[in-house]
Amino acid sequence: MVFGIGKKKRFAFSCGSVGMDCGFEVKGASSEEEILEILKIHAKNVHHMKEISDDMKNKIKQSIKKV
Ligand SMILES: [Zn+2]
Repeated sequence: MVFGIGKKKRFAFSCGSVGMDCGFEVKGASSEEEILEILKIHAKNVHHMKEISDDMKNKIKQSIKKV
């Protein structure tokens, strides 16, 4: 896969946008998958979720901002 120079799309997400009482934000991720990977760890450590449900995954995907 070849990436263009300069204008790469970046993805951002904040936990608060899916109704969590949490100020956690992910910025500058290069893909939705990367955000989900980061959130997997975050959800486990901070929200004590063993895993992210499909329902939550959909919510997260809808809340991911592309910049
Ligand atoms: Zn959070």
